[in-house]
Amino acid sequence: MVEKEEYLKPPVAALYAGHTALQLAQGFIEEGLQVIIFGPRDRLRLYSRFPAIRTRLVEYWGEETLDEIASEGGVIILSGGVVEYLTPRLVLNTRAPVFGLRGLVAWESDWRLKMKLLEEAGLPVPRYFTSIDEVEGLVIAKLPGAKGGRGYIVTRSRRELEEWVNKHLTSGALESGEQVFFQEYVVGTTMYAHYFQSPIMDRLELTGFDVRYETNADAVRRLSPRNVEELRESFVVTGNFPVYPRERLLEDFIEMGERFVEATKRLIPPGIIGPFCLETVVTEDLRPVVFEFSGRIVAGTNVYLGGSPYLALYWGRPLTVGRRVAIEIRMASEQGRMGEVVT
Ligand code: AMP
Repeated sequence: MVEKEEYLKPPVAALYAGHTALQLAQGFIEEGLQVIIFGPRDRLRLYSRFPAIRTRLVEYWGEETLDEIASEGGVIILSGGVVEYLTPRLVLNTRAPVFGLRGLVAWESDWRLKMKLLEEAGLPVPRYFTSIDEVEGLVIAKLPGAKGGRGYIVTRSRRELEEWVNKHLTSGALESGEQVFFQEYVVGTTMYAHYFQSPIMDRLELTGFDVRYETNADAVRRLSPRNVEELRESFVVTGNFPVYPRERLLEDFIEMGERFVEATKRLIPPGIIGPFCLETVVTEDLRPVVFEFSGRIVAGTNVYLGGSPYLALYWGRPLTVGRRVAIEIRMASEQGRMGEVVT
């Protein structure tokens, strides 16, 4: 926990150059806070192109850059880019304060812990198997870490799974001893539910939903069956669509978010802070099944760059999740409660 005295000046938002940096930068600027965007040089250029995004751009060299940012009052905003580019190890160990529950990063990068948390929350999850011998029915096999959906396979055949594992061991995509994860493939429509847990207001807000546009899972719809035979499923995200679930599903989604928040409080105190996402498949009996979660802002929130209609139900006007994060930090700073939103 960070001491109150360290936050006598308004905090500076430190954003990784990528993922959701545009909406976060815009949100902080609108809340009157300063912004640093850091990343490799070739990633920074994008952020100098937009006149309304008035930020300092800082080239990232490693841990020292984070120390410098921290010494200037910077707070690193947890995002997909931060976890993937800085690596989970550095996120867990940096001296810089992090907006969000950084301890959750360790749970997210381990399948067993991930499923343990979802089960602790009592959420409906797909069956999963840790070895090929246990596999039953239609499964999706996932490579470990942030391999981003590339090279996944969906099959009923144990023989195909063995071939798939061997292929990835040979190509080096999988190192021996690394965990492969076999999960029941749930048939339904994917919906990614986005939430914001506010320690300052002590409430959970539903911020919206997206669906991912994934190659080549989505691309095969454009080809005739005779041309897809040789294609393997892969789920590399190229963009996102907004989706509005049927209204009767909203209560379920909200209760699921609440259960997730409570489980993080029990297992990883002080519990989740700020944005998170439950990745679900909604089955034909209208049941959302959670196959994954992200304990930080997800890129799917970019679908409401103009402001989320769901956040308008709490705030009376549409807000982006970036703006919502900035509001939380501004309120925490004004009330001398920064220690409740950073870890
Ligand atoms: P993930 O890397 O876990 O986010 O999965 C990538 C994509 O695979 C998701 O966006 C879904 O389209 C699909 N997917 C993952 N797990 C499942 C599952 N258990 N059932 C059905 N589809 C899934």
